[in-house]
Amino acid sequence: MKKDVYRGRVLVTGASRGIGLEITKIFAENQYLVYANYHKNMNELNGVISGFNQEKTFIIPVMADVSNETDVAEMISKVGEIDILINNAGISQFKMFMDITEEDWDQMLRINLKSVYLCTQAAIRYMLSNKKGKIINISSIWGVTGGACEVHYSAAKAGVIGFTKALAKEMGPSGIQVNCIAPGAVDTDMNKELSKADRKVLLEETPLKKMGTPADIAKAALFLAQDEFTTGEVLNINGGLYI
Ligand code: NAP
Repeated sequence: MKKDVYRGRVLVTGASRGIGLEITKIFAENQYLVYANYHKNMNELNGVISGFNQEKTFIIPVMADVSNETDVAEMISKVGEIDILINNAGISQFKMFMDITEEDWDQMLRINLKSVYLCTQAAIRYMLSNKKGKIINISSIWGVTGGACEVHYSAAKAGVIGFTKALAKEMGPSGIQVNCIAPGAVDTDMNKELSKADRKVLLEETPLKKMGTPADIAKAALFLAQDEFTTGEVLNINGGLYI
């Protein structure tokens, strides 16, 4: 596709469903060329792609396990130059601290934090040579406040915030902005295991009395992609929830 027909090249990780899929949609609707990373399934992503006018398909699927260095290297070599990287892929797990195994811990840190390092280091080379670029990381409210029964998830997401702030300082002089979004409870598969009682408590404790939608987070990502003077920031999109 010719460069003058799109506004920039975006790579979204974990774009097969939930927040990543909604980010993919909003960027494609805004005439960005989106490389949509998926791992295990692409049914919903295919549905979104076929919903677009085929003449104007701005979404290209790309398979990779973002916690695997070889997969990430192959994905970046397929995708080529990227202007905006959105590190969204992630997993969660609800477990009492004393039940978290070493395997749980390693998997949580690999998929939620190591992936951010791998994808960013691979994608940033072009941004450095171009002297501009945007990295947008999806952290979590639990990375800001800590979440009971999600110590490994909270640690990984707090790591994403530290990564964001440090890289923003290092990359600022090269014209690269690095920010993150810390969503509160968003209605996706990630929260489908929540019991009715837990969901009720969560809503009671959220001042806006509702869960967020993937579109709420996607709009924030689009804002950060278009903004020119924000870096090292954590955008809290959480309905006012701070437990
Ligand atoms: P989701 O619906 O469970 O989707 C997770 C996405 O990550 C899927 O596309 C999944 O791909 C992908 N993924 C998982 N492991 C991967 C891997 N190794 N390589 C590539 N992709 C992988 O979750 P979500 O709610 O949209 O969450 C998106 C991000 O927002 C996550 O980082 C999450 O921690 C964060 N977040 C979510 C909430 C919330 O309440 N939902 C709140 C705060 C932060 P497959 O389909 O192939 O499995």
